[in-house]
Amino acid sequence: MSERLDVDVVVVGGGLAGYATSLAFSRAGVPCVVVEGGPPAREDTFGMILWPTASRTLAWLGVLDEVTDAGASLESVRWFVPQRDGSAADPDAGIDIRTSSLGAGTFLGVLPSRIVGTLKRASHEAGTRSLQATRGWDVERARPGWRLTVRTGEQEVTVATPLLVGADGSGSPLRERLALPASRWRPKRQVIVTAVGGPMPSPQSRQALAAQGAWGCASLGSDHSWLNAVVDEDQALDPAATLRRYLGFDGEPSAAFAGMGPAVTVRPWSMRVPQWATDGAVLMGDAAHGMLPHFGFGGSLTLEDVPVMFEVATEALRTGDASRTRLDQFQQRRRGRVGYGRRASERWAQVLAMRVPGSGRMRDLSMRRLARNPHLLDRFYAELSTSAVPSLSTRLRVGLP
Ligand SMILES: Cc1cc2nc3c(=O)[nH]c(=O)nc-3n(C[C@H](O)[C@H](O)[C@H](O)COP(=O)(O)OP(=O)(O)OC[C@H]3O[C@@H](n4cnc5c(N)ncnc54)[C@H](O)[C@@H]3O)c2cc1C
Repeated sequence: MSERLDVDVVVVGGGLAGYATSLAFSRAGVPCVVVEGGPPAREDTFGMILWPTASRTLAWLGVLDEVTDAGASLESVRWFVPQRDGSAADPDAGIDIRTSSLGAGTFLGVLPSRIVGTLKRASHEAGTRSLQATRGWDVERARPGWRLTVRTGEQEVTVATPLLVGADGSGSPLRERLALPASRWRPKRQVIVTAVGGPMPSPQSRQALAAQGAWGCASLGSDHSWLNAVVDEDQALDPAATLRRYLGFDGEPSAAFAGMGPAVTVRPWSMRVPQWATDGAVLMGDAAHGMLPHFGFGGSLTLEDVPVMFEVATEALRTGDASRTRLDQFQQRRRGRVGYGRRASERWAQVLAMRVPGSGRMRDLSMRRLARNPHLLDRFYAELSTSAVPSLSTRLRVGLP
């Protein structure tokens, strides 16, 4: 059996970027199809901490309350430096955003499956159609735009579109098919250990920067938390034990560790994609700017993409001009902010991986100095919570590029 469709937008990838974007188009009455593919969804092994810019996109999409109910509105982000002998951290050396200019409720903690599930349901209600490419898809040029052949079970669906949006993650098969070059980088020997834990006593994100890495846990709602560590691969031979080391620095969230699910080790990449658009097609989210998760920023940048993509794409559709020159506007508007997120996450990874003698002590000293300067951190958080790049003076003072 075969079917033919003609739609204004085809989004390849049914993740955070894909369903947030299709929701924006469908709510505006723009016919939109999402092509889902890739490996089948696994159970969540990590959580997402979303910054205020992401919350603003969710509010614009009309799903902020639902996502907040599915996760946690964080009351505070506590960040502290344990003693060098690995013993408990000074409890006063923390950053509490309840008293900051940002206010509680602007940071969210949520399981990826829950936020994507909410966006997908809202998107379908608004009129998006999903095609499950269980047997793959092919793409070919059709002037104007593209023709996708999607093989779903017994059926073959051919979709013609003037505009293709690539939202298929950092490994983006579509990027490859469009011949848009990409390179990748990651710090040597460094791994991230991650698991979903049980509930935390209060909706907080707590992070410890210890001598041999960084550990953290964050509330993802009334029933779950996210447990994570960035360590040298030799220290992660027993991933669950690696995560439990956090309790040596901070015993408060012990219930979260008692309810810990399977711990996994991941080695994410930082992607460099110099060109995001070609005639009739444009990349977004991790497909355009996948980055190391050290800064907890990739999903927020992905959600920040959505209103900008919507504006650029609707203008392209309105004028009948989806040329590369027109679609390049998306990258031009996002380049500064996204480039900053990538540089900052890479720098953070390098600082943690540094093996020069004395570098750990220097790092801890500067972290303690920062932790004792809540005004500076407040300012840094506030500047990061706009869609601009933090000012040079703040960046120099917090020691980030
Ligand atoms: C351990 C870890 C922790 C993180 N923590 C945070 C955090 O705290 N805060 C934060 O903001 N971000 C965080 N991130 C980053 C965040 O998860 C990503 O930036 C975000 O998921 C990107 O969304 P996306 O939709 O672009 O890509 P993805 O979420 O990767 O979605 C891509 C979609 O495309 C689909 N796909 C793949 N291949 C095909 C194909 N051939 N055809 C069709 N579809 C395909 C996939 O199945 C998937 O549904 C973290 C990431 C990791 C790995």
